[in-house]
Amino acid sequence: MAKAQGLDTSSISRLDQTKISQYFGCNTFNERTMRERLQKDVYKAYKQALKRGVALSPEVARSVALAMKEWALEQGCTHFTHWFLPMTGATAEKHDAFITWDEPGSVIERFSGSQLIQGEPDASSFPSGGLRATFEARGYTAWDPASPAFIMEGPLGKTLCIPTAFVGYHGEALDHKVPLLRSMEVVSRRAQEALIHFGLQTESVVAQCGPEQEYFAVDLELAQQRPDLMFANRTLQGAKPPKGQELEDHYFGSIKERVLGFMQDVELECFKLGIPAKTRHNEVAPNQFEIAPIYEPANLASDHNQLLMELLKSVGERHGLAILLHEKPFAGVNGSGKHVNWSLATEEGTNLLEPGHTPEQNLQFLYFLSATLKAIHTHGGLLRAAIASAGNDHRLGANEAPPAIMSVFLGAQLNHILDAIEKGDAADASAKHILDLGIANLPMIEKDATDRNRTSPFAFTGNKFEFRAVGSSQPIALPLTVINAAVAEALEGLNARLEAELKSGKEHQAAVMAVVKQVIVETKAIRFEGNGYSEAWKQEAERRGLPHAKDTVAALHIWEQPASKAVFTRPGILGEHELEARVHIRHEQYQKAVAIETQVLREMAETQILPSITADLGARAESLSRLQAVGVTVPEPMKAALQAQVTLAGEAQVRLAAMKAALVEAEGVEDIHARTEAFGNKVNLAKHALREVLDHLEEACDADLWPLPKYWQLLSPLV
Ligand code: ADP
Ligand code: MG
Repeated sequence: MAKAQGLDTSSISRLDQTKISQYFGCNTFNERTMRERLQKDVYKAYKQALKRGVALSPEVARSVALAMKEWALEQGCTHFTHWFLPMTGATAEKHDAFITWDEPGSVIERFSGSQLIQGEPDASSFPSGGLRATFEARGYTAWDPASPAFIMEGPLGKTLCIPTAFVGYHGEALDHKVPLLRSMEVVSRRAQEALIHFGLQTESVVAQCGPEQEYFAVDLELAQQRPDLMFANRTLQGAKPPKGQELEDHYFGSIKERVLGFMQDVELECFKLGIPAKTRHNEVAPNQFEIAPIYEPANLASDHNQLLMELLKSVGERHGLAILLHEKPFAGVNGSGKHVNWSLATEEGTNLLEPGHTPEQNLQFLYFLSATLKAIHTHGGLLRAAIASAGNDHRLGANEAPPAIMSVFLGAQLNHILDAIEKGDAADASAKHILDLGIANLPMIEKDATDRNRTSPFAFTGNKFEFRAVGSSQPIALPLTVINAAVAEALEGLNARLEAELKSGKEHQAAVMAVVKQVIVETKAIRFEGNGYSEAWKQEAERRGLPHAKDTVAALHIWEQPASKAVFTRPGILGEHELEARVHIRHEQYQKAVAIETQVLREMAETQILPSITADLGARAESLSRLQAVGVTVPEPMKAALQAQVTLAGEAQVRLAAMKAALVEAEGVEDIHARTEAFGNKVNLAKHALREVLDHLEEACDADLWPLPKYWQLLSPLV
């Protein structure tokens, strides 16, 4: 195999690209590169520290830093940065050159162990939800050795990016990564404890994730003419296109060349960064696409998804495309989501959600399946809260995405088995009984048979769960943290029950079956195989007592329920203050998103749309009066049409004023909950009301005078 780090990455030609394996990860300081470049004992110490989750000794850090610097300089890097994921949801970086003074007037390249391990960005403006009082506004970035350092190529040079965790002075988590890592550790421990009962010893259990990312691509020049796309990432106004997605001829259709070129470029960048991009295809809506990598440990999948979202945007620009990651860029057109595929696997690679080949393996499978059911049954509301955002509100439950009610889809085969266990006598868990129940035949589960229900927010798809309600622009770290935390808590409960059953003298199989049966009975309400989009399901879910937070305003309350707090605080995934800070930030971000949209819509209406409408009305009136001047009788319907448009424009002014007033009022509300409610209800309603009239005005306005690219232009095939 070619030495990846020896490649001159900027010269990878079209031809070289055919052998992905030869340059995969060439822009990362990955395990292989480390093994080759570090002294044996240093590499061993690094691996040991990684395995035990302890800090590197200063000597080891120094050696790693030196090797990393040499590698980075050889690759042409001039700068380095600690790369982190603050609670804004975007990534953050502050670049430093590798230089330091040597003798007066000259510099040398330097990068020390402490610069590798810890950084102190002037990051006081990142949201901390009050965690950092200003007098100790410092936040520290600490190297996350589990995520390989990588090189970002800029137009005039390269930067070494060191993935880090972002913590406060007292170690408080100020980012999305720290809680994710903590949740992975907790779920690993609980799963290991469970596995001991199945005679399996493993040093760790790893949460795995493969996120499928949807996005829209629109022509950059067109997008730049729309302030809403530039500043709010979605259209805040726009009449329906003449031909929408009704025809659904885009889905899985052939990919147009311009888009294919863009996708291939994105994939090349992904491969160089060690992101295992695997599939690409058209999505349901026009100009909507998807890219999905192969699954990885959840922390890497999270870092890689953040990187991918940035790559999509920057590579898009190179191709004259604006990549829209918003959940609902166009009203009336399917929005975008992110399917977060999740499973647990032992360090050796055994997937714990994969049905096995023996009844005993399948009992173990049923145990982990039950734990997941229990987790979603207990914390479905929290899972919903984790994906609540201003953007996702437009999509969830809008007959195109899973509803805001959390339920689990298992497929007919598994349901049949769970029903049989529920009805059967768990005490009789003899080998024959297990055969009768069909448990021994579990490997029969066909992947396709389980993947058909697209209306379910949390579906079992053969050997993993697929959380489909996540928004396309959201960092996956938080939903993953919630799943891990909830499953860890469920496993803890199941493990305790199993131990009690064993103590009472039950045989192993009977004890496991007894616990599984209890859980099946308890969690029945969460299982749903029908159409999640239907009105009937909403009513049925209410009868079952499932929580239904229809929007972010409602969902934000869930964070403050005792059970939600406990699932984080008990195992130490988040402390009380860390959790409070996050909830505070979620309120702020929601309010900010709505406020920005309102301001942008005001600007567009007041300075672009309404002046154009006035010009259009004036021109029409002029034309009519000129006709009259030469003795032509202007028919009443022509006058009526003009009058109607004038009346509508007047209504737009009224609604614009109402929207401005609603914004001022909401901004003046003191209490954070009440303010969120004012933005979510009053301001959003006022915005929607204005948009409605503007869309009607657009429908009857002279197209030459209309100041913005229209939906049909934005959604036309990209050629
Ligand atoms: P689809 O859902 O479109 O049918 P797949 O099921 O093949 O496609 O895969 C979707 C995503 O799920 C991919 O990112 C894939 O790597 C990931 N995936 C597959 N197996 C697992 C697993 N055991 N754990 C987590 N993710 C997985
Ligand atoms: Mg999928």
